[in-house]
Amino acid sequence: MTETTGARTTGGVSYWWADLGLPEPQDPLPGDVEADVVIVGAGYTGLWTAYYLAGLRPDLDVRVVEQRFAGYGASGRNGGWLSASVTGGLDGYARTHPRADVARFQLAMNDAVDEVIRVAEQHGIDAEVRRGGTLLVARNAAQAGRARQAAETAERWPETGARLLTAAEADRRIRVAGTQAAIWEPHCARINPARLAHGLARVVRERGVRIHEGTTVRSIAAGQVETDRGTVRARHVIRATEGFTAGLAGERRTWVPMNSSMIVTDPLPEETWAGIGWAHHDTLEDLAHVYSYAQRTPDGRIAIGGRGNPYRFGSRTDLDGDIPDRTVQHLRGVLCSWFPQLADVGIAHAWSGVLGVPRNWRATVAYDAASGRGWAGGYVGTGVTATNLAGRTLADLVAGERTDRTTLPWVDQRARPWEPEPLRWLGIHGLYRAYGLADRLEARGGRRTSWVATLANRVSGR
Ligand SMILES: Cc1cc2nc3c(=O)[nH]c(=O)nc-3n(C[C@H](O)[C@H](O)[C@H](O)COP(=O)(O)OP(=O)(O)OC[C@H]3O[C@@H](n4cnc5c(N)ncnc54)[C@H](O)[C@@H]3O)c2cc1C
Repeated sequence: MTETTGARTTGGVSYWWADLGLPEPQDPLPGDVEADVVIVGAGYTGLWTAYYLAGLRPDLDVRVVEQRFAGYGASGRNGGWLSASVTGGLDGYARTHPRADVARFQLAMNDAVDEVIRVAEQHGIDAEVRRGGTLLVARNAAQAGRARQAAETAERWPETGARLLTAAEADRRIRVAGTQAAIWEPHCARINPARLAHGLARVVRERGVRIHEGTTVRSIAAGQVETDRGTVRARHVIRATEGFTAGLAGERRTWVPMNSSMIVTDPLPEETWAGIGWAHHDTLEDLAHVYSYAQRTPDGRIAIGGRGNPYRFGSRTDLDGDIPDRTVQHLRGVLCSWFPQLADVGIAHAWSGVLGVPRNWRATVAYDAASGRGWAGGYVGTGVTATNLAGRTLADLVAGERTDRTTLPWVDQRARPWEPEPLRWLGIHGLYRAYGLADRLEARGGRRTSWVATLANRVSGR
């Protein structure tokens, strides 16, 4: 960990882990092993897959292999939004799938929010859940236009339960400076991400699954996974490495690792909370193109995240989440523009993580029964809930069961690979510059979404 002027601590994986205590890796792979199922990656995707599989088929020998410890990746670093949002958007899916199936997908995501909370309660996992919905605030005319569009979309998709709020109604939930309108979505809860990952890993172990931590996978092939400590041979091989996938042989252009960065404030005094509101613990986001997202933490702080350096050349990922001071200052600036009374607030910790983005910006769950290979990911920053549905679906697929989940539109989505470098770096950085420019143009008072953002959306295929 290093000291900076912007945050007292940076990196160190995340505030959530620092608060809980970083665990020592347990039970490394003892050498070559034969199993029935091997899952690479002990984030939520790998852990949920193991959890449901152990329930469905307790006779199978299921192993999870993890380079550091369960929850080391995005699952232990995220903003803690347990949200029913469908990555890729319902309208996007409706262009390629029957409407009824897309509606079913939304309902399955709503249900997954409940399922995570139910499983956590059942097993005594204290994930510090507060179900307050999501508030998306519009702070200029163009953003208010997007809020109205989102409300029209919600009329077509009542399954989302989203509704338009006036500025006064939004203020009654959270008083964000300059709010002109907002969207409120009911199907979301705030969680503590590391506590969920930590608790889930305990429950998975209690179900008889061995999680081999401190074991790095070098290559994945049908029937086997090679690690730095030996080879695991198994009929079913599941890749659950999301933002780290580009580091595996043959996967460099599958999903780009996109960075997201977060800061957390010192605890705020009661009088400050009285000014801000936020009594329902909604998760909070703005409707900027380069958006920022936040939660009110259980210990009375604000954790806020957004894009720093979006992408590193050659799809490289950092490890322990260090971020530069300019990113801390940027996030602090957003925080103070939302809540000017926080101008002097101390920043306790800053960190980052990687998430996986497929070329079509749609998450997927896939399993090939012939080769026994499966994978899930590409959640584009909305994986906290989606990983639960993905894990349940992968378990169904591996167990050979056809269920309502195995026919959802995201199953077996195929995206083309990302462009080779330097096009990939230029494209992604160009895209985020364009979105930043669009935000600045809109802040100057345009009433509509800037043409720059519309063009960027078209070019990127979002
Ligand atoms: C800062 C940040 C904020 C976010 N906020 C939200 C949010 O509020 N809500 C939301 O829905 N989503 C959010 N996301 C996204 C969400 O966290 C992810 O979509 C989700 O956690 C993905 O889970 P996963 O298990 O697929 O991947 P990960 O949690 O990244 O797990 C992958 C695991 O694989 C392991 N691994 C990788 N390579 C190897 C290897 N070669 N050998 C062995 N092990 C390996 C890693 O160590 C890691 O533990 C955020 C992401 C970030 C980074």
